[in-house]
Amino acid sequence: MEKWYHKAVPDIETKKSKSIIHPFVVKGHTGLTINPYHGCQHRCGYCYATYEWSPDFFDKIYAKSNAAEVLENQLKSWKSKAIEPVMVSSATDPYQPAEIKYNLTRKCIEVLQRYGVPYYIFTKSSIILRDLELHKKYKDMCFLVWSITTCNERVRRLIEPGTPPASSMFTTIKRFVDAGVCCGVNVDPILPLITDSREELELILDSCKVLGVKYVFGAVLRLREDIWQRMITILMSLDIEHGVDEYERIYQFTKPLKPGYNINANECYSTRILHDLKQMISERGMIFDFPVYMRSRQIIGSHVRDVIHRMGPGQQLTLMKYM
Ligand code: SF4
Repeated sequence: MEKWYHKAVPDIETKKSKSIIHPFVVKGHTGLTINPYHGCQHRCGYCYATYEWSPDFFDKIYAKSNAAEVLENQLKSWKSKAIEPVMVSSATDPYQPAEIKYNLTRKCIEVLQRYGVPYYIFTKSSIILRDLELHKKYKDMCFLVWSITTCNERVRRLIEPGTPPASSMFTTIKRFVDAGVCCGVNVDPILPLITDSREELELILDSCKVLGVKYVFGAVLRLREDIWQRMITILMSLDIEHGVDEYERIYQFTKPLKPGYNINANECYSTRILHDLKQMISERGMIFDFPVYMRSRQIIGSHVRDVIHRMGPGQQLTLMKYM
């Protein structure tokens, strides 16, 4: 099998950044994000963060060594009194192995907490356990999300070889749930013919329910030319009969997929998968959404944060509504 990464262990270099907090727009939703690293050792074949301008995304990781200082400077000179919750991270895993050495995510989180900024974290890692106490003391203002695509180890080792097994992520989630931190699971991406069966999804959702996860959501894989090349390798490695032809049918394209195109699965397929996923989530008493408090702006400033912390959730939301 030709892999999409070439080195057993990626090279890691440090670099300086001029700016660390950036706006993003996804499907009309705007937000803020910080990425303490560029590149990712988790090496997911379906990764959306790999682009033509970043061919060594899996093999060379850049640690933005001044991330926390730049973040603090940006927050100090923030033009508005309020700020949206910050996503950590949109284009890398903030708790990939490099974090053990560089602590950049931890330092950025400490800055966000000092400035009273709400944040939500997307990770596939158990390394986040190191920061359990840090997130726990900020539990009213953060939301931690693990992206879990499969409980099938054979499939996981192939599609996301740098991630820990789902069982390890569930053990990690339990520690945070028990500590009172709001946790979510993102079943994303759901891979047609590979991880989209009802049984496969139920395995993930049943574990979420047992653990006490409140929020679960997910999405179907989007295809781009570079992702498609990796998916062909995955489909062939799994010996999925007519897999390539079936993808062409589900994504309604004919070879070759042109660079620059970003395509969704056909509506009939996506609607069915998402409808079933939402129903299974709801049947287990969980919510297909973000918590409300993660969709509201918050006043910047540690003194204000302390006041807000002492208020009940209802009072906090009322305050945010008027900002
Ligand atoms: S963890 Fe996220 S950023 Fe890292 S390789 Fe996987 S999909 Fe890409």
